[in-house]
Amino acid sequence: MKIADIRATTVTVPLQAPLRHANGCHWGRFVRTIVEVEADNGLIGLGEMGGGGESAEAVFRAMKDYLVGHDPARLEQMRFHIANPTASLYNNRTQILAALEFACLDLLGQSWGVPVSEILGGRLRDRVPFASYCFFRYPDPRTGEGEVRTIDQLLDYARRAKAEFGFKSHKLKAGVFHPDYELAAYRALAGEFPGDTFRFDPNAVWSTEQAIRFGRAIEDLPNDYLEDPVYGLNGMRRARQMIRVPLATNTVVVNFEQLSANVLDPAVDVILLDTTFWGGIRACVKAAGVCETFQYGVAVHSSGELGIQLATMLHLGAVIPNLSFAADAHYHHLTDDVIEGGLMPYRDGTIAVPTGPGLGVKLDREKLRRYSELYRELGPYPYDQDPHRPGWTPIIPNDRWAEP
Ligand SMILES: [Mg+2]
Repeated sequence: MKIADIRATTVTVPLQAPLRHANGCHWGRFVRTIVEVEADNGLIGLGEMGGGGESAEAVFRAMKDYLVGHDPARLEQMRFHIANPTASLYNNRTQILAALEFACLDLLGQSWGVPVSEILGGRLRDRVPFASYCFFRYPDPRTGEGEVRTIDQLLDYARRAKAEFGFKSHKLKAGVFHPDYELAAYRALAGEFPGDTFRFDPNAVWSTEQAIRFGRAIEDLPNDYLEDPVYGLNGMRRARQMIRVPLATNTVVVNFEQLSANVLDPAVDVILLDTTFWGGIRACVKAAGVCETFQYGVAVHSSGELGIQLATMLHLGAVIPNLSFAADAHYHHLTDDVIEGGLMPYRDGTIAVPTGPGLGVKLDREKLRRYSELYRELGPYPYDQDPHRPGWTPIIPNDRWAEP
């Protein structure tokens, strides 16, 4: 089997409501690049990357010069071909490599008649647990519904999400309001669901001292972990010395260099593996092996996925023995998906690992057309800006909080 063509299509899929975060907002939709790698036998492998537009599509078109005629089974060769670590000083293609790796694994699985999880060592679990991933949200401008701003609204959202999807772990995405307000919100959330576990993520916008104050104030709760309270390995290390809550990151340990630094001088307890940021599912499996060796916790990070990327997260979650916590997904904030069958269903807070060949998901061509048209209509949005706070930008450490 040889790679014959690579195509990229930008889509935008609406969210239930705009999602607020410490550095800006998802403006009511996700923008994603859907990648198709076609083989000379007619099979099509699927990949996905965050963001999109003409420049992203052009990068994937440019990869044809490197990869047409390449055997999709030669994944390590592809890594050095397009993302050699020293050559990449000039052209960081980690996320491009990830999307192409997804598609090549999908091709291999289809060709060999096995799910991607079988290629990666085989499933240890048939379903992957997910956390509720609660956001502060603006109301959907079309309906006026979906706002999460007050603590009552947060609890109402979390109760409905638990009833609908069955979550047993709850994440609060924070860093939007003053830490004292968010502490009250987090404690209220933890008080609402006895027996469940909780995690909090202010996206690294606090000072180290603020991180310590907050961490100490939640030590009595059933925390999974405190995620990126402060930016930088040394800030995390200083906070970790003062707080009796595991610290997690998807920010300062996102490659093997940083992982080795964390092993040699620990700053973080739980590594949140992202199949895009790390450069593919296999890189995450390798990193999970290092974490298993050094007994660090592991969970699966979400950078805002549609069904193709979700499938990569499910196959990853299925094969790593040390998945110590529920995975994160933005997925339940979406209104639709571009895969056949629409949004994958949750049951008891878990999603089934696809068992069909390859990634086990197929493109719904009509939805692909519809949401690429919607992207042409709406265009991109600045992830690091807030449409309701014009001119605002956070500083690190931040003191420019929104009014609750
Ligand atoms: Mg995070």
